[in-house]
Amino acid sequence: LDAGKFRRQGRQVVDFIADYYDGINDYPVRPAVAPGFLAGKLPATAPSTPEPDALAAALRDVRELILPGITHWQSPRHFAHFSATASNVGALGEALAAGLNVNPFTWEASPAATELEVVVTDWIGKALHLPERLLFAGGGGGTLLGTSCEAMLCTIVAARDKKLAEIGEERIGDLVVYCSDQTHFSFQKAARIAGIRRGNCREIPTCRESGFVLTATALQAAVAADEAAGRVPLFLCATVGTTPTAAVDPLRELCAAVEGRGVWVHVDAAYAGAACVCPEFRHAIAGAEAVDSFSTNPHKWLLANMDCCALWVARPAALVAALGTDHDVILKDAAAAATGDHHAAVGYKDWQVALSRRFRALKLWLVLSCHGVDGLRAVVRSHVGMAAALERMVRADARFEVPFPRQFALVCFRLRGGGAAAQLVGGDDELTASNELNRRLLEAVNATGRAYMSSAVVGGMYVLRCAVGNSLTEERHVQEAWSVVQGQAAAGGAAADT
Ligand code: PLP
Repeated sequence: LDAGKFRRQGRQVVDFIADYYDGINDYPVRPAVAPGFLAGKLPATAPSTPEPDALAAALRDVRELILPGITHWQSPRHFAHFSATASNVGALGEALAAGLNVNPFTWEASPAATELEVVVTDWIGKALHLPERLLFAGGGGGTLLGTSCEAMLCTIVAARDKKLAEIGEERIGDLVVYCSDQTHFSFQKAARIAGIRRGNCREIPTCRESGFVLTATALQAAVAADEAAGRVPLFLCATVGTTPTAAVDPLRELCAAVEGRGVWVHVDAAYAGAACVCPEFRHAIAGAEAVDSFSTNPHKWLLANMDCCALWVARPAALVAALGTDHDVILKDAAAAATGDHHAAVGYKDWQVALSRRFRALKLWLVLSCHGVDGLRAVVRSHVGMAAALERMVRADARFEVPFPRQFALVCFRLRGGGAAAQLVGGDDELTASNELNRRLLEAVNATGRAYMSSAVVGGMYVLRCAVGNSLTEERHVQEAWSVVQGQAAAGGAAADT
């Protein structure tokens, strides 16, 4: 890296990003482009030699070709999926880590990067009030991965190897994992990668009456049936904040249901874990004292720019036993070997799938240092407040319903069905017709470019999902988004899409 050139180019890029944020509100949140739109505008091969001022030319292309074709996740009017909250220091922390470009796969490979990860995962774990046993301070420990899917994969593999060491490797086909029909699909993917038979992933049904949570009774019945058939219950993935409705599985009851059966309990709190910075949401993780691992994505709701998933485990030794590569003498961490104490000299390559890794701790540390836990609380509370206001607005409009109460900052709503829906969109099955009506409404809303929401089908019912969680979102943006929905519903946008 050429320092002088970097100074000049860095300013160009920083100005570019700042200009983007100055004008972010002017873009349609979802771009009106068709697949293949970009390839046709770019040369088929990379240039052999760069243009004289190649960065300026490339930035021009970013402005003219790329920006019109991205979905503007940082727009204050982006309400789809779960947000990827950004912050100045989150972005600058990414820049700092990229500039230093270290690869902290062992303690020795970058002592401060490794130790900062140890410190910062304990910091954030304490801010969320996670049980002490998941923190380094209590004999467990945390790491920063890219995604929740990786967290699931690493923990299933740790549980699998621990179990197979007890019952024999030849019984891998008997291992069974448990989740609900609301669990994120990445769990099944992780289970398959870990070698769990497709037929041995129990997706336990949930229902509207119980709020789409996994009940202890249903789990207990599934586990008992597997045990009776000679299979081996291995792993439960409970969710705090499911993707469709942000439902919260009851951790205490679920842990009690599998107590003493050797089942590894993992909590996927990818979205809602962040809310536990606020005391008023900590009931969501009541009972977490008994879990084996817990993960959440600070890139979703804690101002840490993409990507950042924090995973804590109660027994790091189980992760290291499954994913460790200590037989590799070249990489053997001299310091860890000398002390034999993984807390003193963590070798994070043994906590994840890959060898190489990013210095994610730097940005998370900057975020925590510059915003403080109080700052994070204020962000969560402001989003939840705006979502509560939206929920009230929806409930006040008789054409709409909120079929399941808002959870955290996620509001699910829909146009009421009934005979009118069937008439508008055709078809005689009322639920199918009203689902179609709402699908069209969402498409009409998103096509305006003035708001962007997503959808879910829960218990057979199609709902629009409005997840408030963007750093730039203010009340007026939520109000405007709601006006867009009302306007499209009134204009028959929902029915007109053919
Ligand atoms: N779990 C839940 C509850 C989610 O909502 C998501 C994504 O939104 C995931 C897991 C997957 O997260 P990742 O993309 O980090 O693997």
